[in-house]
Formats: sequence, C-alpha cells, structure tokens
Amino acid sequence: MSLSILLCGAGGRMGRSISEISGDHGCHIAYPVDLGDDPAEGMDRCEVVIDFSLRDATLPLARLSATSGKPMVIGTTGHDSAEKAEIVALTSKIPVVWAGNFSTGVNLLFYLTEIAAKVLDSQSDFDPEVIEMHHRLKKDAPSGTADRLLEIIKLSRELTDEQVAHGRSGMVGERPAREIGSHSLRGGDVVGDHTVLFAGIGERIELTHRATDRKIFAAGALKAAKWVVGKPPGLYSMQDVLGLVG
Ligand code: NAD
Repeated sequence: MSLSILLCGAGGRMGRSISEISGDHGCHIAYPVDLGDDPAEGMDRCEVVIDFSLRDATLPLARLSATSGKPMVIGTTGHDSAEKAEIVALTSKIPVVWAGNFSTGVNLLFYLTEIAAKVLDSQSDFDPEVIEMHHRLKKDAPSGTADRLLEIIKLSRELTDEQVAHGRSGMVGERPAREIGSHSLRGGDVVGDHTVLFAGIGERIELTHRATDRKIFAAGALKAAKWVVGKPPGLYSMQDVLGLVG
C-alpha cells in the first residue's frame, strides 16, 4: 500500500523534488499544501505529514499534526530557539523525525564529526571550524546542517552559543582555544557543501560532504516518512532512521 503524505511547501524546490520521486519510494502526495492552502483540510487524507516550507509554517503545522495524531517529518530550517522548544514539546504527542539534512552522506558526516570531536578534544589542540556553501537563493544562515555540526562539536567540548564565532572581521585578536568558527558562503546554484575542519599544529583534518542533487534530501525524507509511521511519540533524527549511533 502506497503511503499517503500531506506535503507542506509542495510548490517549492524540495516539494517538487519529493513529489517527483514519491512513487519510486512507495508513497504518494495525497494533499499538497503551499502558501494560501489550509492544511487542516488534508489531515484526514494522510498518514504522515512532511514539511519543507518556511520556518513560520512549521509550528502551526506541528500543532495541527499533534491534534490530529499524525506523525511528522520536518525538513524546514531556520527556526529560532522558542519555535524549536515548542515543536520539541509537541513530540510528547506524536513521533517526529526532524533533521537539518536528510541525506545519508551528511548523516555519516554527523557521525564522523562526533567521533573526530571526541578523539580531537580541546586537550589535543585541534581548532574546529565549520564551513558551508549554498546557492544564492538560500534565506537562512548558517544552514541547518551547519547548525547541527556546530551543535555536535559544542556538546563534545562543552561550549556555549557565545563561543561560536560567526565569521570574523576586523581586529578580532588571536583565536581562543575554546571557540568554533562558523562560515557561510553563498552563490550560484550550489546544492549544499559542508566541511568540518580540525586544525592542529603540523596537521589538519577536513571532513567534507558535497551534495550535487537535492533528490538525496527528498529520498531521505521519504525514507523517514515510511520509518516514522507507527513509532511511539518522540523526537527522532535521521541517524535514528539510518541506525547510525554515535
Ligand atoms: P523554496 O523556497 O523553494 O520552497 C518553499 C515553499 O514553501 C514555497 O513553495 C513557498 O511558497 C512555500 N511556503 C512558504 N510559506 C508557506 C506556508 N506558510 N505554508 C505552506 N507553504 C509555504 O525552498 P526549498 O529549497 O524547497 O527549501 C524549503 C525548506 O527546506 C528550507 O527551510 C530549506 O532550508 C529546507 N531544506 C532542508 C533540507 C533538509 O535535508 N532538511 C534540504 C533542503 C532544503
């Protein structure tokens, strides 16, 4: 049986990509939603909700999904901490797979970054920097994927948000040991490049993932949609879907 999906952001780049390949993954878009549509009308027609739209849309959609008892897959990025906290609270009612990046390769990058951050801890004198590049139309920065990479390193080194340096300009002084640099490049039609760099004395390690086709995200989101149906309420990551545990 084909899985029925309510797709929010159906008219966008990701929405169109998901619609295009849904049939190949045993799914169909039962209710496409874009600006001006009312998702409430489509809740009865779907088994799962997928959101790839704009940050303002996610919280109302998550509330609606929780009220309707529908599992959710969230790909939209750029939410502030208050929105994130409210969405996380709703996962006590429904299962939600929330990922800043649905590609298998990037989730492997998360896993490898976690291992590298543990091995190359601050004692071993390696300075971490996260660099991302996306197409010129991307609205938020850093990307959701870069945010996740920063989060992994922050957790591992017990650093705070204030210890992340978003770009550097002017007389910033020497680089503190307890800092992570974060740099966002924008231009052209780049689908998504991410590099985690650990710079030591006499050596450096660079872990890089380059996406060349956004279908990798669409395929991952559909994989997550099939996986999340029937799961107990809770917040899940794409690493849970792929069985990658750090
Ligand atoms: P896009 O601008 O091409 O498409 C967004 C779509 O959402 C548009 O059709 C727009 O009209 C629609 N939309 C805006 N507000 C809406 C609302 N309130 N209700 C319903 N629809 C609404 O953007 P995109 O490249 O498709 O990306 C969409 C989101 O997904 C962005 O936040 C992007 O960062 C994120 N993204 C995530 C991943 C991932 O793997 N998690 C991958 C790529 C993109």
